[in-house]
Amino acid sequence: MNMCLENKIPAPPDRENWRFVRDLHKSSDFHIHWTSPSLPDADRLDLSKGAEPFFNFPDPAGYLKTANEDLLKFLKAGNIYSRGGIPIICGKAEMPTTESFRLKIANREINILAGDTEGIRRGIYCLEEMLLGAKYPSLELGTNEYIPWLRNRISRCFFGPIKRPPFNRDELMDDVDYYPDEYLNRLAHEGVNGLWLTIAFRDLCKTSITGLNPNAETRLEKLRRTVAKCLNYGIKTWAFCIEPAGLSPDDPLLKSYPELQGPLGWSKYCFCPSSDVAKQYLYESTNWLFKQVPGLGGILNISHGERETTCLSGVSATDNNASLCPRCGALPHWKILHQSLSAMHQGMHDASPSAELISWLYMPQSAPLADWVYELPRHTPEGVILQFNFESGGCRNQLGRPRCGGDYWLSYIGPSDHFGRIAAGAAGGIAELSAKIQVGCSHEVASVPFVPVPGLLYRKYKKMRRLGVSNVMQCWYFGNYPGIMNRAAGMLGRETFDSSEADFLLRLARPDWGAAAETVVKAWQHFAEGYSHYPLSNQFQYYGPMHAGPVWPLYLKPALKPLAPTWKPDFPPSGDAIGECLENHTLEEAMILCRQLSEMWNQGVALLNSLKPEFEGNHDRMLDIGLANALGIQFESGYNILRFYYLRKRLHDEKNNLGTLEEMSKIVRAEIVRSEQLITYCEQDSRLGFHSEAESHLYYPARLLWRIEQLRKLLNTEFVEVRKQLEDGFTLTGFAPDRQLYLIGNGWNEADGFRWQALRRDDKVIFEFECANIKNSGYDIIDMALIDRDLVEHPWKISFNNDQHHTDNRQSSICRVKKDISSWHAEVTLLKVPGDCYLQIVRKSGILSEDPELSIWPPPRVQPRHRLNLERFNPENCGILALTWTAARMSDIKKHKEVLLRTESKKTGRERLIAVNSIN
Ligand SMILES: [Zn+2]
Repeated sequence: MNMCLENKIPAPPDRENWRFVRDLHKSSDFHIHWTSPSLPDADRLDLSKGAEPFFNFPDPAGYLKTANEDLLKFLKAGNIYSRGGIPIICGKAEMPTTESFRLKIANREINILAGDTEGIRRGIYCLEEMLLGAKYPSLELGTNEYIPWLRNRISRCFFGPIKRPPFNRDELMDDVDYYPDEYLNRLAHEGVNGLWLTIAFRDLCKTSITGLNPNAETRLEKLRRTVAKCLNYGIKTWAFCIEPAGLSPDDPLLKSYPELQGPLGWSKYCFCPSSDVAKQYLYESTNWLFKQVPGLGGILNISHGERETTCLSGVSATDNNASLCPRCGALPHWKILHQSLSAMHQGMHDASPSAELISWLYMPQSAPLADWVYELPRHTPEGVILQFNFESGGCRNQLGRPRCGGDYWLSYIGPSDHFGRIAAGAAGGIAELSAKIQVGCSHEVASVPFVPVPGLLYRKYKKMRRLGVSNVMQCWYFGNYPGIMNRAAGMLGRETFDSSEADFLLRLARPDWGAAAETVVKAWQHFAEGYSHYPLSNQFQYYGPMHAGPVWPLYLKPALKPLAPTWKPDFPPSGDAIGECLENHTLEEAMILCRQLSEMWNQGVALLNSLKPEFEGNHDRMLDIGLANALGIQFESGYNILRFYYLRKRLHDEKNNLGTLEEMSKIVRAEIVRSEQLITYCEQDSRLGFHSEAESHLYYPARLLWRIEQLRKLLNTEFVEVRKQLEDGFTLTGFAPDRQLYLIGNGWNEADGFRWQALRRDDKVIFEFECANIKNSGYDIIDMALIDRDLVEHPWKISFNNDQHHTDNRQSSICRVKKDISSWHAEVTLLKVPGDCYLQIVRKSGILSEDPELSIWPPPRVQPRHRLNLERFNPENCGILALTWTAARMSDIKKHKEVLLRTESKKTGRERLIAVNSIN
C-alpha cells in the first residue's frame, strides 16, 4: 500500500523487501578472534586441544535443546570440539534464584551449575561469550556465581505489527512467523527472557457476559504456537494490553450492564471496575486466557495513561481531582486501580500460578504529578509488579538552563524525580518494581536498529539497581534489534558494578571485536559523550530532523509546511515550520547542541572507520560500522536543517544578505552529498531508515533520490530567483504570499460559528471572541496559535473553553469568559506582544474529543489533522496577523480589497511585488 500522500514521493519498500527479516532467519556466524597461539598461562585453563560437553542437567521438557546445540555448534566453529577433551559438565546445584548459575573453571574440568534449566542456559551463553572474548581458547581458573538482579527482561519483535492505525494489523491473525528460531536464539544470547505482543480481551477471551469473538480461536492458536516456540529459548511471552478497555458509546454491554459505564473519555466511556459484574468480567477474562494458553508468561498492562481504561483514567496524572464516576469518585484513587488489578491478577493466578502481572503506569508528563500517583506503589495488590517510566519528567541543565522531558530517553540517564519517588514508595510496600526504558534507541532517533551508546546504558542500569528495580521493559515498538545494546542490557542485568564503566565496555567489546576492542570502546565513549547533547525536549524527538533529515526537502521561500510526526507513516514530508520541533530550546540552542552531538559522534565514526580494512570480511561488524556512519549522517543533516532555517531568518532580517544566501546554498549542496552517502549505506543495510512504530521505512534509497532531486530543483529555481532579487537590491518580507491578512484594530472578523477581533490597548494586544450556539453538554473550546514570521519559534498556543478553563504554553496571557443563554464571549489579553506573525483560530466542540465539530479562521486550505501535541494546528492554514504594518502603507490597496506588499529597489527605484494577500 502506498501511504504517501504526494504521488511523486516513491513508496517505501514493501514487507517482502524488508531484507533484514531474511537476516533474522539466518543463523549468525561465530566470529572467532583467537589470534595468539596457546601460551602457557598458569592462571588459565587451555581448551585449544578440545572440549566435550556433557548435558547432564535434568530437562524433561527439552527446554535446553537449543542451548545445548548452540554450545556444540560453537565448539565446532572454533575447532575445539573433541571427544575426550576437557569436559564441560552441566549439573545441578542450589542457587538463590532462577537463571542463577555457577561457573567452575578447574584445572581439568568445567562445571556449569544451576538450580533450573534457565540457569544452565545462561551459563552456556556466558561460557561462549567468555571464550569469544579471550585471546586464545582459554578460560581464567576459578569459580564465579552469576545472579541476575533483573528478573524479567522484556523486549519485543522489531517488525511485529503494532495493532494500531493506519495499518491496524494484528500479528495473531496472519500467518507470518515473527519469531524465527535464529532470531530467538540471538535474543536469548542477549539476555532477553520475555517478549511482548499486543492483545485485547474482547478479541480472544470468553466470559459470562461477553461471547467469544469469531476469530478468537485463530488468535489463541497462534498465541499458543508463539508461546511454545519462544520457551525453547527461555523466552516468555507477555500479553500487552490496556485493560479493562474503554467502552464505545454503542457497545451493547452498556445496555445490559449500565454499572460498567464510567465517565466519558477521549472517544469512549471509561470501564467502571467498582461493580461485582466488572470484577467478574476481569477475573474470567484472564482466567480464560491463561487456561487457553499454557505457558503464557504474563500480562503487561497499561493501567493508566494511554487510552480509556478504568475510571481512574478519567483523571490526569497531573490532576488531584476525584474521578467523575458516581461510584469510583467516592473512593481513594488507588482503590479504583486496586479493584481491576486484583480481579485480573486473581483470574490469571488461579489458571497459571507462575504467570505474572505487570501494571504499567504510563505517565509521560514532564509536569509534576498529582499526590495520588505516589500513593499507588504502596497500594499495588500483592503479586502485581509496578512499572513506571524511568526518565519521564526528568530535568537537567543544557547550555546553562534546566530542560525537562517526558517519556523515552537514552541520551538522558535518569531517573527522573517522578521515578525516584515511585521507587521510594515501592520500597516501603510489597510490589516489585519494573523500569520502562528504551535499550536500543528511543524517540530521539528511532529510524535505526539501535544507537551504539552502551556506556549510557551502564550508567542507567547502575542507577536502576540502586533503586531496587528488579524487572525491566526494554522497549516500546522500537529499540530492540539484536546487537550491542541488547547484549549490554543482558550483561547489565547481572552486573555487580564492582568494575568501572570502561572495564565493562571492554568486556562487552571483546567477543565481537577481539584485539580492536580498545579502539571500539574509545569510539563508544565519543558516541556516548556526543549523544548526551541531544536536546532534552519531546517536541524535538517527536517532530525533529534527527530521524530522517536526509529525506527532508528544504524551502528557501516560506512554504508554511508542517513537520510530520516521526512515528507516523502517512503524513507528507516535513516542511519548513522548524519551530514546531522546538519547545525547551531556542533554534540557536538546538543548533549548538546538535553541532556538539554531531562533531563528537563523528570522532567516534573516524575511529570505527579505521577498522574497516581489518573487518572487511566480517559482515556483522561492517554493519556496525555502517550504522555508526549512517547515524553520523543523520545527526549532521539534522544540524544542517536547523542551521538552514536559522539562516533563512537572517536572510529576512538583514539587508546585505547575499552572503547568507550563499551559506544556505552551501548547506543544500552538502545535503545532496549526505543523501547520496546514505543511499550507499541503505543498500548495504535494509534496517536503516526502518521505524518499527511506523511499520515502514522513513528513509530508503528511492526517497533519498527524490530528495536529491528536490534540492537540485531548489538550487535551480528559488535560489536563482531570490539571488536575482537581492542583486537588484530588493529586500524580502519573509511572509508567504496569498494569505488572509488581518490588520490589528480592523474590526470583527467572521468565521463560521464565531467571530473575533484584535485590538491594541495601551501596550497590550487584546483578542475578543463571540461564539454563537453555546454548547452546554460536551465541550466547547477555542484553540488559538501564533507562530513567528520565520517559523523558528514554537507556536504560542492558547486554549480556553466556555467554563474559563485556560491554558497557555507561554503562560503569558489572561483570559476572561462571559456566558449567556445562547452564546459565550471571551477576552484574551496577550501580556507579551508578538511581532507580525501567523495566526490560526480553531473552535472545536462536541461530545467525543476524537471527533470534534470544527470551525476555523481562516478557512482551512488543507484538511486539519490531529498531530498529538500540536493538535490541529497547521501553519499551512494560517492567516497573517499584522501588528506593525501601518494602515498608510496599505491604504491605497484597501479599496481594492487586497494588500500588495511591495519592496522598493534601492538601486533602480522599481517596485517589486512580493506577496499578494487578500484582506477581509
Ligand atoms: Zn467507576
